[in-house]
Amino acid sequence: SPLVGVLALQGDVREHLAVLRSLGADAQPVRRPEELAAVEGLVLPGGESSVIDKLARAFGLFDPIRAAIAAGMPMYGTCAGLILLADRIDGAIADQQTFGGIDARVARNVFGSQTASFETDLDVPALGAPPVHAVFIRAPAVVEWGPDAEPLASLPDGRVVAIEQGVLMGTAFHPESTGETRFHERFLQHVRNRRGISAPAS
Ligand code: GLN
Repeated sequence: SPLVGVLALQGDVREHLAVLRSLGADAQPVRRPEELAAVEGLVLPGGESSVIDKLARAFGLFDPIRAAIAAGMPMYGTCAGLILLADRIDGAIADQQTFGGIDARVARNVFGSQTASFETDLDVPALGAPPVHAVFIRAPAVVEWGPDAEPLASLPDGRVVAIEQGVLMGTAFHPESTGETRFHERFLQHVRNRRGISAPAS
């Protein structure tokens, strides 16, 4: 079974570990560069992207995660995790940085206050039927993207809330908290597809 990690600095780590394990993956929390080096794919949880960024730098994980992305490691980010995978962000706090990898600009907190958080059923053609029940909590949205990034889902007003570029995928919502497993399944498929391609030494 694929050995995958969930970045475990802050955020809803346990929910992601539970979904991945329910799908048969060997899923482990990642807090140290050694733990990152051992996994074949990484999930970036929801939480607070500026805090995760700060902690990643403090734990010596920022550059290793960027290197893993450059080396082609599959990653899946939800909400704050989507922000962390975007090359550009609107509404960054102070010196907030992202790992990047998806050629997109993501606006933070577009769904505003906690009370503006909402749920909706989203059509996601890449996943087929039924629609995805999506929960948005102080969620970001993708406001601009390049030719290599492919939107996977949009709201009726056209804002993109799920996007993929190669083996990198991000959703503005939280499948891990609603029993939706198809995004995690797709992430694990990216991991399996990549097997057999020899990993570059790092
Ligand atoms: N607002 C958070 C951020 O900017 C994301 C919210 C979430 O992950 N639920 O990081």
